[in-house]
Amino acid sequence: MAAITVLVVEDEIAITTLIKFTLEQAGFDTVCVESAEKARLLLDNQLPDVVLLDWMLPGMSGLALIEYIRQTPRSRDLPLILLTARSEEEDKEQGLNLGADDYVTKPFSPRELVARIKALLRRRAPQKTDMLINIHGLVLNPQEKHVSVQGQKISLGPSEFKLLHFFMTHPGRVYSRTQLLDLVWGDHVFVEERTVDVHIRRLRRGLEAGGLMHLIQTVRGSGYRFVSDESVANDKHFKG
Ligand code: CA
Repeated sequence: MAAITVLVVEDEIAITTLIKFTLEQAGFDTVCVESAEKARLLLDNQLPDVVLLDWMLPGMSGLALIEYIRQTPRSRDLPLILLTARSEEEDKEQGLNLGADDYVTKPFSPRELVARIKALLRRRAPQKTDMLINIHGLVLNPQEKHVSVQGQKISLGPSEFKLLHFFMTHPGRVYSRTQLLDLVWGDHVFVEERTVDVHIRRLRRGLEAGGLMHLIQTVRGSGYRFVSDESVANDKHFKG
């Protein structure tokens, strides 16, 4: 799996230690904080790939942090699992209603925790998983960092690879430069929007070798879109 960073927000040191060990064994990177306030500061700087959030925290509660995350545009779609000692149905419902994607009840098995995180990533952030993608003969292999068109290898830099991976898992939708920075690089604060244009240009150049540069469309005033439908892609009105 590509380097996935999990932000763990948990105030009990023994549990944090167990989670950190479990996740790192499974190949994830972890950042651990013991309060929602600290998590919020981190989130304002750099987005992780997944948040694992304890419900009961001193100070700002886990639920209040979920509300903050979901109300903030750049973190609105951040995959989030609520960790709770409460097994009451009502509480689970409240967490899910506020925007948690899933919950794990303490005590949890390490294997289950890892499985839940992987399932959530597949569902919410397929560009961060190892699933092979094939769209009209354009094949992207995340595990081997390999891209080919009809069997011919295409050379891409790491940023262009990430960008293509994101586009291929999110076809048809228009993304602004800011969204791409947040969703592909996890950061729009320290990276300039111009950077996106540079990587798009390089990605198109790479795809050109396979005759597929038209798959990345510029949508004037909005951003970029990956088209997976050949009939649209071949339409001359939609030139990149
Ligand atoms: Ca707690």
